[in-house]
Amino acid sequence: MAGVRISRVLKAYGALNVLHGVDIDIADGEFVVLVGPSGCGKSTLLRMVAGLESITSGTIAIGGKVVNNLPPKDRDIAMVFQSYALYPHKTVAENMVFALRLQKRPADFIKQRLQTAAETLDLVPYLDRYPRQLSGGQRQRVAMGRAIVRDPQVFLFDEPLSNLDAKLRVQMRKEIKELHQRLKTTTIYVTHDQVEAMTMADKIVVMQSGKVEQIGTPLELYDRPVNTFVATFIGSPS
Ligand code: ADP
Ligand code: MG
Repeated sequence: MAGVRISRVLKAYGALNVLHGVDIDIADGEFVVLVGPSGCGKSTLLRMVAGLESITSGTIAIGGKVVNNLPPKDRDIAMVFQSYALYPHKTVAENMVFALRLQKRPADFIKQRLQTAAETLDLVPYLDRYPRQLSGGQRQRVAMGRAIVRDPQVFLFDEPLSNLDAKLRVQMRKEIKELHQRLKTTTIYVTHDQVEAMTMADKIVVMQSGKVEQIGTPLELYDRPVNTFVATFIGSPS
């Protein structure tokens, strides 16, 4: 496992500055939620941690090692997106082990990782099915399975539950938290939903317009918001 340190990170797309010097320190094993209105720069920041976007200036370190110039495949991270993008013509098992096959891992290793991940996510009975034969929640679990089989140092989630209905969203929040309690993998979880942030986070980072407004535990933000933006955002119904 490893912590993540984001230091003075700026991002510009041409003349458009979307992140204005972001500092976030994430401890080993912590579950940190980035929350803020649509367009404030959450996905951009997460994609920079993943190596999918260049860093205009500043540094990002994973496990104490600066990764600014490392391609995504050389970063020990796994990302789960909102559109789970499963391969429709591959079974659940094939979807889950695809990355390991690309890495040319030995067959025994792949089998073991698949078995462990399937047990963790209650997917054992579904391994031979195709995505279209699964419910929304099961598909989301397969998407998480693809991340878990890689046993990464850091999980990155970008609004993974926003395609699910309200009831399933509540259940999946619980499952993701339980998973984190078991695996203790450092997690950065992006959402625009303050209820999700308040119920899931060890630590919340509230962002607005490319800046961090406040970092704290859910209770700290609730009790002592630093400004009216945080107070209103945390206090308003989703
Ligand atoms: P969030 O995930 O918080 O909704 P994003 O990180 O997706 O926000 O976007 C932050 C800002 O950066 C937005 O104004 C968005 O339009 C802009 N942006 C994102 N990606 C690009 C891109 N590839 N080129 C230009 N502007 C972009
Ligand atoms: Mg986004």
